Amino acid sequence: MISVILDERFFPERQMIQKNQDILRRSRRLCQGKRGNGPIVYWMERDQRLIDNWALLFARQEALIRHKPLHVIYCLTDDELDATSGRQDFSLAGLSEIRQQACGLNIGFEIFLGAADAVLPPLLKANDCHLLVTDHSPLRHKQQMCERIGEAIAIPFFEVDAHNIIPSWILSDKKEYAAYTLRPKVRRLLDDFLSDFPQLISHPLAPVSIALPAQPRLEKDRHTRRKIGQFTSGTSEAHKRMQGFVNDDLQRYEQERNDPTGDAQSDLSPYLHSGQLAPQRLALAIDAANTNQQSKEAFLEELIVRRELAENFCFYEPSYDSFEGFPGWAQKTLNEHRQDKRRHLYTLEELEKSETHEALWNCCQQDLRDSHKLHGFLRMYWAKKILEWTASPEEALDYANFLNDKYSLDGCDPNGYTGTAWSIGGVHDRAWQEREVFGKIRYMNERGCRRKFKVDNYITAHCGDSDRG
Ligand SMILES: Cc1cc2nc3c(=O)[nH]c(=O)nc-3n(C[C@H](O)[C@H](O)[C@H](O)COP(=O)(O)OP(=O)(O)OC[C@H]3O[C@@H](n4cnc5c(N)ncnc54)[C@H](O)[C@@H]3O)c2cc1C
Repeated sequence: MISVILDERFFPERQMIQKNQDILRRSRRLCQGKRGNGPIVYWMERDQRLIDNWALLFARQEALIRHKPLHVIYCLTDDELDATSGRQDFSLAGLSEIRQQACGLNIGFEIFLGAADAVLPPLLKANDCHLLVTDHSPLRHKQQMCERIGEAIAIPFFEVDAHNIIPSWILSDKKEYAAYTLRPKVRRLLDDFLSDFPQLISHPLAPVSIALPAQPRLEKDRHTRRKIGQFTSGTSEAHKRMQGFVNDDLQRYEQERNDPTGDAQSDLSPYLHSGQLAPQRLALAIDAANTNQQSKEAFLEELIVRRELAENFCFYEPSYDSFEGFPGWAQKTLNEHRQDKRRHLYTLEELEKSETHEALWNCCQQDLRDSHKLHGFLRMYWAKKILEWTASPEEALDYANFLNDKYSLDGCDPNGYTGTAWSIGGVHDRAWQEREVFGKIRYMNERGCRRKFKVDNYITAHCGDSDRG
């Protein structure tokens, strides 16, 4: 039925009306080109899910209107950091769920082994593909990859922000100074953009067989760990966890989220990072929750304002992971304190192996290594101590990003690069009282942690012995 209604030879005006503006406004064209006669391809990268995915909805809308088959392609590269953190296994297990769902929805799904700029241009050409769609990430590797692919292909190429509720380029056209400058922009647009997702129904055209002889593909799903630490991979698991959090823990969020011995955070960041859960779906669930307003607002502030602020930072600041990305006041104060004597200096190896003099820090690092996630409050303390115990802010930032990306299941994320830049370089923060090494960067120490929560209980629970230093 749908294929008859949307056949462009007979109903061109009707198609225009059928275009869903809520999907279209989340897209932008990366390059022009001539549409081919073959299938529409969605190159899935960051948003690894089929439901609640604006990029797939965009590709599917185009496929319906143009009467084309629809394919999802994922390009798998081997990366040491992804392997150690468990991110690669987590992704692969989630992708195997996607493969099954895609089959039931008449959508082709393939995993190719190789970088996207090696896989996609010849594949799109060999199969005379109609157009290419991808999801948006502000991170350097994805932006550069899109540029290279855009230069190598001859068909139109679209990017869709399937990760943010308000697409980054619509929310703001510049690097924001802090949460207080972004918040009014979020408030202005949120009601309009926090809409429910259209349902993903089976595509009327069956996928065709696409081939690329020179490029190996993953014929059968690799046998991988589905469970990394306490996190079981997959969209269905993500939804189960989300519901559990909304029903049981959200009510305590406002009061207890900063206590690492409690259980008031959602622990949903691995699912948000891998795209197995859409932030917009989570925001809708929180909005509809039957619990106290303070907790709902506190959670939405983190999920929307803080998270989209991190996206904004990485999108508009090319040096998001280096000293040059710090605000001017922070660079100045850190430069003035370069020569300050450090009471403790540790190598990357000593930090990685939890070999410092401070039991709490050692336990945080061990917790990160063992469970692949660190509580949000401890992440700040953990990164700030790296500034205090290394020779320069540049070294501190490099070590913090390396360790975070190597061990966190939610690592290699705009939230991570912005979190370390906040802790070490005052990004989105203000100047505080001046002190050695830190200059005017906000200071944190173990004593402060003891005032906030029962440090010994945390150490005993995660590392067994609170005396270890
Ligand atoms: C040094 C440092 C490193 C960090 N590294 C990462 C990282 O690698 N990956 C990552 O996703 N987050 C990172 N964060 C941000 C934050 O600590 C985590 O998002 C949070 O701990 C994730 O746990 P949760 O889902 O249980 O959080 P919840 O409190 O349940 O929050 C729900 C969601 O809101 C968002 N959110 C919460 N706090 C922040 C924040 N401060 N900034 C931006 N978004 C936020 C996240 O998407 C989070 O999943 C880092 C923060 C710091 C200070």
